[in-house]
Amino acid sequence: MKKIAVIGSGTMGNGIAHTFAQNGYEVNLIDINLDALGKGMLTITKNLDRQIAKGTLTELQKATTLANITTLTDLQTGVADSDLIVEAATENLDLKLKIFKDLDKFAKPEAILASNTSSISITKIAAVTNRNTQVIGMHFMNPVPVMKLVEVIRGYATSNETTKTIMELSRNLNKIPVEVNDYPGFVANRILMPMINEAIYSLHEGVAGVQEIDQVMKLGMAHPMGPLQLADFIGLDVCLAILKVLQDGFGSQKYAPCPLLVNMVIAGKNGIKSGEGFYNYTNGVKDATVADKFL
Ligand code: NAD
Repeated sequence: MKKIAVIGSGTMGNGIAHTFAQNGYEVNLIDINLDALGKGMLTITKNLDRQIAKGTLTELQKATTLANITTLTDLQTGVADSDLIVEAATENLDLKLKIFKDLDKFAKPEAILASNTSSISITKIAAVTNRNTQVIGMHFMNPVPVMKLVEVIRGYATSNETTKTIMELSRNLNKIPVEVNDYPGFVANRILMPMINEAIYSLHEGVAGVQEIDQVMKLGMAHPMGPLQLADFIGLDVCLAILKVLQDGFGSQKYAPCPLLVNMVIAGKNGIKSGEGFYNYTNGVKDATVADKFL
């Protein structure tokens, strides 16, 4: 594998493009939104500079990484000669089904189609293509250049060969792949999202304030980041979309999103990417003095 296409240049897409490009792959980064492409490249450049400051990357490696990435808005051109396509567009079933139908039309017959979805059924996505054995989940964690895990999700029809290729490829990216089966939320979000939702319920019911809830989980459970800050980091819209997939997929109210989360998303308070969620952010950095808006 040499040529990779990444669909979506948001929180995850730019990190995935960064990681492949830094490891020597040629990457086409595709988004329907030109602004998102600009923002994505800016984030990649900032993150590469951070690696240089830490002494883990040279100026030459930064230049090579950036030179390995081409940005495009046209899907057909962007995927035509790719060996692997990693879809990281918005977490929405209908959107992903449309993208995978198009990918099946435009990508080489031997190309593998992967989705970075957090929760949506890989089997459902694969079923709209004529290559369901070559469709797989490649679930990177945020921030992609830093986090070691890739949750590799086998759909019902995913072949052993496709799985083996993606497991090996993940190791070539210096990641640790873990193979799981196709159930709503897979493993990572089936466990993480109920915890985040419960933290939001605790806030909603006045059990404690934002900082207190995060402090309890950081100091008491040794989590590096509290669940409310993590929700801001992931994107509240993404958390809501995942909880709905869990609720529908398992047919259980146990996963019903907290009304506070629903309201915040309606109000456009999506976390870091919108400048405000449970905390306030300026240019992606948490404000030092946090007003506890909810108590
Ligand atoms: P995001 O909202 O930050 O970015 C989504 C991007 O997709 C946007 O730039 C949007 O313009 C683009 N897009 C929408 N429709 C498109 C299309 N038809 N073609 C090309 N681009 C299109 O979302 P995100 O947080 O990066 O999430 C992307 C995927 O990764 C989702 O499936 C999400 O569940 C998953 N994921 C997210 C996280 C996280 O922490 N945010 C972690 C793991 C996986």
